[in-house]
Amino acid sequence: MNIILFGPPGVGKGTQADNMVKNFNLHKISTGDLLRDEIKKNTDLSKKIKSIIDKGLLVSDETISDLIVKILSKKIYFNRLIFDGYPRNLNQAKSLDLLIKKYNQKISCVLNLNIDKESIIKRVLGRLVCAKCGLTFNKYFDPPQKEKYDCNLKYLKTRSDDNKNTIKNRLKIYTNKTLPILDYYADQRILYKIDGTRKINQVYGEICDIIGSLGS
Ligand code: AMP
Repeated sequence: MNIILFGPPGVGKGTQADNMVKNFNLHKISTGDLLRDEIKKNTDLSKKIKSIIDKGLLVSDETISDLIVKILSKKIYFNRLIFDGYPRNLNQAKSLDLLIKKYNQKISCVLNLNIDKESIIKRVLGRLVCAKCGLTFNKYFDPPQKEKYDCNLKYLKTRSDDNKNTIKNRLKIYTNKTLPILDYYADQRILYKIDGTRKINQVYGEICDIIGSLGS
């Protein structure tokens, strides 16, 4: 099954996707992570991408589509993807549907994690990402613990776009461009609403129940 994890920045999509990868033999595709990998290549394109991300705006649909095609066309990912942070607008949602059809796959569900604006800001400002293994933690709500985290604490960094100014733009874009996609998926009857303000384990429990109810 392919699953879309939907929700505002900081709601915990990445953390939940990491849990799902471990338990359901799925692969996480975070377009944000793919773009940050692209930035490390230090090309003309990567400079453009970094400047867009640091402003909290959306990278072009063409750039995103190129990244997604590379993934969907790979056999090892066939019907085993969790999309985290994609699609981000209606054009991307429609383009994903076309690609999914072209590669004979299916979107099984869209899990919409909800949270209030104040909590989003707290979560984003507390986020820490490991530069080595990619795992995400939160200074306030989910500090790294020995059982979950093998790398040295020195690798934990704050993302360059996790600051007060950028988060305002990211939230505006989420409200204006990303949220309207929900109607598109509600019409397809594959949308599930989840309260993302609860503890990580509670949210994950509900995700597991939904996945369990879908069958294979
Ligand atoms: P994320 O890691 O999902 O929070 O994404 C970080 C930033 O990467 C976003 O604020 C956008 O600038 C860019 N980005 C990630 N995914 C997409 C996407 N699907 N479409 C356009 N821009 C994206």
